[in-house]
Amino acid sequence: MPRQAYVNGRYVPHGAAAVHIEDRGYQFADGVYEVVPVSRGRLIDEDPHLDRLERSLGELEIDMPMSRRALKLVCRQLMRRNRLSNGFLYMQVTRGVAPRDHKFPGAARPALVMTTRQMNPPSGQAVAEGVGVITIPDLRWKRCDIKSVSLLPNVLGKQSAITAGAYEAWMVDPEGRITEGTSTNAWIVTKDKELVTREASTSILNGITRLRLIDLLRQDGVTFTERPFTVEEARQAREAFLTSSTNFVMPVTRIDGEPIGNGHPGLVTSKLRDAYLQFVEGPEARA
Ligand code: PLP
Repeated sequence: MPRQAYVNGRYVPHGAAAVHIEDRGYQFADGVYEVVPVSRGRLIDEDPHLDRLERSLGELEIDMPMSRRALKLVCRQLMRRNRLSNGFLYMQVTRGVAPRDHKFPGAARPALVMTTRQMNPPSGQAVAEGVGVITIPDLRWKRCDIKSVSLLPNVLGKQSAITAGAYEAWMVDPEGRITEGTSTNAWIVTKDKELVTREASTSILNGITRLRLIDLLRQDGVTFTERPFTVEEARQAREAFLTSSTNFVMPVTRIDGEPIGNGHPGLVTSKLRDAYLQFVEGPEARA
């Protein structure tokens, strides 16, 4: 059976799925999205992702396209139709279809699109060796806490990383402090062994993986600090890693072409990756 997508109330073949040319997501990037990881057929941290979706929509004064209960049913139906075991579910909500005009339309109904993608979580070489990041100026707007589909600086940043032979670009604010990756949150273990990630604010997306890891750290009584850290601190760090729904916990072993620490994934990173994987495998993650 061909892969299907959900588009505004209908399940359609993925290849034929389309939205109207006057969808405000298409014309203004007037919408938000979520990526929910799926492991062994189960959504991971589904409610925190839906909480963030609701929050992002609220910040933009867009209504939820349906009740949370109905949304969960659509997620399950699409996963079942696509026999999704490992990978992720993508959902996007825009302000809807209306004649092009910047101001909010009076009558538009929020538009909902969902797709799934089969994909195994990163393992093997990337995890064993760690990945490289480059640093680039953070060119984004001042509401990075909203998971907006407006991702042009992130797209350009990721491409700069790929062109430079790296995996991710860490964006840097005007004060020389790292905000986050183009699609990941950034963490370091400083030369003084302090585990650090930037605090949640309008400067970063508060990653669900980030939040889950923080929860696991608290449960295990591991000390960590939420504060901005500079590029210089990252260069001198003992360890670094990134977190996201598709990477889980990924060691970072090079920054701007230079090794971090001894150039290999560190002990803290490996322990946290294991802790997160254990969470994903366990009952608490599952919906
Ligand atoms: N930061 C940005 C800019 C992102 O786009 C993402 C994920 O797409 C993240 C961080 C990580 O968030 P999560 O852990 O919810 O996937």
